[in-house]
Parts: sequence; structure tokens; C-alpha cells
Amino acid sequence: MPLIQTDALIIGAGPAGLFQVFELGLREISAQVVDALPFAGGQCVELYGDKPIYDIPALPACTGRELTERLLEQIKPFATAFHFDQLVSHVARRADGRFDVRTKAGLQFDCGAIVLAAGVGAFVPRTLKLAGLEAFEGRQLFHHADRVPAAAIAGKHVVVSGATDQALAFATRLCAAIGRRAPEAPARVTLVHRRDVFDAEDGTVAEFRNACAAGALHFVAGQPTGLALDGDRLAALTLLDATGATVSLQADTVVVLQGLSPKLGPLADWGLALERRQVHVETAKFATSVPGIFAIGDVIHYPGKQRLILSAFHEATLAAAGVAGHLRPGDDGPLEYTTSSPRIHKLLGV
Ligand SMILES: Cc1cc2nc3c(=O)[nH]c(=O)nc-3n(C[C@H](O)[C@H](O)[C@H](O)COP(=O)(O)OP(=O)(O)OC[C@H]3O[C@@H](n4cnc5c(N)ncnc54)[C@H](O)[C@@H]3O)c2cc1C
Repeated sequence: MPLIQTDALIIGAGPAGLFQVFELGLREISAQVVDALPFAGGQCVELYGDKPIYDIPALPACTGRELTERLLEQIKPFATAFHFDQLVSHVARRADGRFDVRTKAGLQFDCGAIVLAAGVGAFVPRTLKLAGLEAFEGRQLFHHADRVPAAAIAGKHVVVSGATDQALAFATRLCAAIGRRAPEAPARVTLVHRRDVFDAEDGTVAEFRNACAAGALHFVAGQPTGLALDGDRLAALTLLDATGATVSLQADTVVVLQGLSPKLGPLADWGLALERRQVHVETAKFATSVPGIFAIGDVIHYPGKQRLILSAFHEATLAAAGVAGHLRPGDDGPLEYTTSSPRIHKLLGV
């Protein structure tokens, strides 16, 4: 794969990383963004996309998804390259003082500075541990509700695994299409979880139970134990049910929504000073213990740190000055108001 060169590489496309693009852009520092998730927004989209946030200045209420869309809109003038589905696994300093950054899937970056905006770590979906199942990833096996193609649903036997809010809401939503006899409707939807207790909001559980009671949705309490194949296709899951009996469940599509486990993982090996499993920073420039690596947002710790989006925006502003000073020594850039700076207006195309 070609080596991707950039001034700054931002690890994490949560609200901190997105606003970092803007602040770097104002300083004419080009940045690219890498995230392990398949979309931007970090916790705001993955954990509470449709719930309201009330403490973003000048935005009395907006959902996590809406905030992300607004941040993406704000950075449009900088035409930023995003690399999704890419877990950064390796960071090392090159002989020329720049950084060599690699992802697990094989992307390689050569960058002058890094801003770590990695939140609580890379969100890695909890998988269903069944030998051979991972071979169907992207064809018959999916780990993000938003990423299941219509063709994997329409007319198919869909098995949803999980007890999360997302799992119940997704299964219930699919059933609604059956009720409407919509062309995109699945043939049958079954939710599988080891017991009849769910880790979801009361309203979601109530809707799920209503759909089950109406016969539109099916629930099996059991533990998946194996697969049945039909040639090179996944045909069924075998489960050990609550009575200890083995049952077979036809499965054209398996959607595993068992939650995400944030993995600080590789970050712990990059030589950064950590404090309480968070990255230690100084708060003038949000510099880490490694010159050239800056860190902002939920991933950092300093006295008084508040894990709030508002705090991350402030941190991104100061980190941008730090990155500028690192890439162009002696040039911290004077403070310019976006209201009145012709240079900034040109950058923003306004
Ligand atoms: C339910 C809930 C409600 C909340 N409500 C509010 C609220 O009302 N107001 C408020 O201010 N805050 C709220 N928060 C907190 C807020 O969401 C966080 O402070 C904010 O998301 C932190 O942003 P971030 O960009 O630092 O990290 P994140 O949003 O966690 O994003 C970090 C991103 O980095 C990626 N990443 C990490 N490691 C790697 C790696 N090695 N390789 C590639 N990608 C990686 C992750 O996949 C993730 O997408 C809430 C949080 C939760 C859970």
C-alpha cells in the first residue's frame, strides 16, 4: 500500500478529533484522520447517536449524530481525508524525526505530528466467539447496525445476537418492515441472548416484548455453539438453549450487537507517559511526553480534567498551536479572529 504523507495525523474521529481538524486547518496545517469505527462521531454516534446533548455552547439541544454532522460541515472547507475501519496499532519515530504510523489493516502514514484524540480507546465490537464465523464478515456477518446492506435483510432469516439497546431496537425495527409487508422486509427475525434479561432502556425492552408478543419477532434464550454451512454459505447457527437442548436456527444473516469494548490497547505501547491509564499532558499545548505527539479529549488526564465535549474543543485549540510550533518552530501563530481575518475567510471560502 502507498505511504500516506500528511502534516498531522489525528487518531480518533470523535468530537475532539473533528474539531482538531478545524483548528489545524485555520493554521493551514493539513490533517488526515484515522478511526477504528466505520464512521465519524466516536461515542456521540456509537453510544448515544439519537439522544440529546444540552451543554454544547450556543446549541441548546442537539443529538450526538447532529453534533457530528455539524462538526463535519464545519470542516468541509479543509477537504479532510478520513480513514475509517482502521485501528492504529503502531506508532514510532522515524530517523528524520517524523512519525511512522501503521494500522492493523495495513495503512502506513508518514506524518510530522500526531494528535491523539482516541477517547476511551478504539471501539472494537464484542464478537460472537464461534470458530469459522469471522470468515463471513461483511457478507453474512455484521457488527454495526448501520452497516447491514439491504440485500442481507430483504427476504432473509436474520439472527440478531445481543442484549444491548442497539440489538433490541434493531431487531424491533426490522420487524416493523415485516408488519408493513415492505419489499425490504426480512423473512424472519430472531434475537438470541443467553437469557431473558436485557441491558437496554425500559422503553426499548417494552417495544421489543410487544413485537415478540405480537408474533412478529422471535426470541431464543440460548448460547450459540456452532455453525452449519451450505457449501460456502452460512446456513444456520446451533445453540444450546435454556433447557440444555441443542437447537438449530436458520441464519442467512447474523448481526452481532453485543456492545463495544473500548481498547486502549496499542496506545499503551507507544512510549507515552500514562497516568491512571490516561495520557499525561501538559496543558499549555496539550503535548504528551513524546515531542510531536499531542493529545486531547477523553484520552487525557490532567488536574481538573472533565470528560466533556466542551473541554475537548478548548484542548484542540491549544493543541493546534502546539502542532504549529512543532512543525514550524518559532511559529505559534498570532491569535486571529475568524470574524475579521481575511486569511481565515479565504481558507473557509467565505
Ligand atoms: C451516554 C453518554 C452521554 C454523554 N453525554 C454527554 C453530554 O451531554 N455532554 C458532554 O459534553 N459529553 C457527554 N458525554 C461524553 C462525551 O461523549 C465524550 O467526552 C466525548 O465523546 C469525547 O470525545 P473524544 O473525541 O475525546 O473521544 P471519543 O468520542 O471516544 O472518540 C474517540 C475515537 O477514537 C477512536 N480510536 C481510539 N483508539 C484508536 C486507535 N488506536 N485507532 C483508531 N481509532 C481509535 C475510537 O474508535 C473513537 O471513535 C457522554 C458520554 C456518554 C457515554
